[in-house]
Amino acid sequence: MPFSLRTIRLALSLSALLPTFAGAQARQQVTRDIRPFVSVDAPVVALTHVRLIDGTGAASRDDQTIVIEGTRIARVGPSAGTTVPAGARVLDLSGRTVVPGFVGLHEHTYFGGVRRTTAMTTSAPLLYLAFGVTTAMTAGSQLPYHERNMARDVSLDRTPGPRFLISGPYLDGPATRSGMARALESPAEARRVVDYWADEGATWFKVMGQISRERLGDVIRAAHARGLRVTGHLCSVTFAEASALGIDALQHGFITASDYVPGKRPDECPIGNMHEQADVDVGSPAVQASIRALAQRGTSVVSTLGVYESFSPERFQLDTAAMAMLDPEVRREVEANHANIAAGGLVVTDVLLKKMMRWERDFVAAGGLLGAGCDPWGTGYLPGFGDVRNYEMLLEAGFSPATAIQIMTLNGARILGMDRDIGAITAGRQADLVVVRGDPVSRPRDLYQVTTVFRGGLGYDAKALRDAARGLVGVR
Ligand SMILES: [Zn+2]
Repeated sequence: MPFSLRTIRLALSLSALLPTFAGAQARQQVTRDIRPFVSVDAPVVALTHVRLIDGTGAASRDDQTIVIEGTRIARVGPSAGTTVPAGARVLDLSGRTVVPGFVGLHEHTYFGGVRRTTAMTTSAPLLYLAFGVTTAMTAGSQLPYHERNMARDVSLDRTPGPRFLISGPYLDGPATRSGMARALESPAEARRVVDYWADEGATWFKVMGQISRERLGDVIRAAHARGLRVTGHLCSVTFAEASALGIDALQHGFITASDYVPGKRPDECPIGNMHEQADVDVGSPAVQASIRALAQRGTSVVSTLGVYESFSPERFQLDTAAMAMLDPEVRREVEANHANIAAGGLVVTDVLLKKMMRWERDFVAAGGLLGAGCDPWGTGYLPGFGDVRNYEMLLEAGFSPATAIQIMTLNGARILGMDRDIGAITAGRQADLVVVRGDPVSRPRDLYQVTTVFRGGLGYDAKALRDAARGLVGVR
């Protein structure tokens, strides 16, 4: 059978991702699978008396009203002057803050860094959405078919979750010691693997730290020929080299920039790179020039400060609420990992973390486009929780609350090329909104107090999503 009903429904739901302006669109009917998680389902919804951080970088505004019609934001403005249509479902959200749905750019759907890597294809979509991530680029997978099938299930509303942009298996060079990556030996192979995964639905590709400049160029050309994008956790190729080759986004920032390692040899990852980074002077003219060059070329960077903090014995504490999401056996493993971070081979000192922060702040000051991502890991760093932790880390890095939210929302949408459609709370964009109790401007930790998440105009109950994920991370 050449076309199943399922294929046609998939094509229809994927077309909803295209960045087009269709005006007010009626939503599809809520499926039986996601109904238990839905708390707001009405053709017209008004969120009144909210504190708004709109994602554009503008400072927060008090007492605003947001009107949602169908899947999109119809109007936003001061409550006093914003008309609420007759028949709208009105939610008085005094004491709440609304921010755009987060656009995460490192949102894995497998749980690694423990004895056995497991799929998080049930728990990750629930947790990302529960903490406000409404669009998620996965940045590589150890279980690419699990991820592809999960993304299909989410797009068909068989399970609640963010819009996923999947990225296929990790791509690397022949020197890789890791069994998880596809080691690319030739230009023809790079093309073949990229084309295959493009046909399977990948829209991004993730390269790793042992790839050569030549193979990275092959991957970028093959992806760009299909209108797709490439990101990397680099080491053997420097940021300057990758930028010149046309890479779209550099993951992790300063800590993986091998540009500054003395004696760095072309196409080789210098051993101990991460530790030597702590000796680099971020304020030096050479480093500052390299930051400006990246910004001027338009190569974007994805901040993942929070996950690196989870490798800091000085700073990182396991979060009780996050630990409750783990399967009990895996939880014991994570607790052991945490108790013994130093034995894990990677320790991120406070000195290094501060340099990462400074580098990102200087990159943005130079006009660079910075997004953010979670990068969940067996150190106890979980989907959703980690995305919100990035907010606190970005504040510590010296960004204002409005800029930190912009990095996590509109900047991410710009990196994905979806900023006309998502990423900010303005009329015409998709109604992707996060409602939190309290005021994350004066109390950053309030950003964890998510009550409702709207994706495409449909409101999900954050507690129901979290409860459904409890005990599942590390199993499914
Ligand atoms: Zn990662």
